[in-house]
Amino acid sequence: MAVSIHPSVDGGIKKGSSSFTGGTLTCKCASDPVEVTVKSQSAHNHICGCTKCWKPSGALFSMVAVVPKDSVSVTKNAQKLKVVDPSATIQRHACTGCGVHMYGRIENTKHPFYGLDFIHTELSKQDGWQEPQFAAFVSSIIESGAKPDNMGAVRARIKELGLEPYDCLSPALMDAIATHIAKASGALAA
Ligand SMILES: [Zn+2]
Ligand SMILES: [Zn+2]
Repeated sequence: MAVSIHPSVDGGIKKGSSSFTGGTLTCKCASDPVEVTVKSQSAHNHICGCTKCWKPSGALFSMVAVVPKDSVSVTKNAQKLKVVDPSATIQRHACTGCGVHMYGRIENTKHPFYGLDFIHTELSKQDGWQEPQFAAFVSSIIESGAKPDNMGAVRARIKELGLEPYDCLSPALMDAIATHIAKASGALAA
């Protein structure tokens, strides 16, 4: 039996469209859903095993991407949104009705990813969003109760889908974070 990773990738990964320019995210409430309009293609889309990202029910992983924060606006039922954990680096704005995270924003201007919002493109009916590029924080699914003995099968399935499993972020993103920190400290010339 194939390991289920996330409903958006379990049937194989569908490529995004280079001409795609954004769409609408809708929460799962049957009435008065929250709607977020995104006027940009997503980037760095990945599946994530951390315990903080919103996951659809039963999924081992979330699927999360970034977009410029200026391209994100709440266009319906903003009053239903509440920040999950105000002390967290990423302020995840979740629907108080259904629990879905509509967007995550970094308010710390010194953070390497400041200016980017985190979104779940599966909440959109539009086709063409960037497909997942890699799997992040794979080992962290154990923290949510996944069986350690099954991790070989999970990583094998991720590779079979054409994604590289990492236990933190991808090397490109880890290098970007370290470069930002080194420039801030002066270890690298800005
Ligand atoms: Zn909702
Ligand atoms: Zn995550």
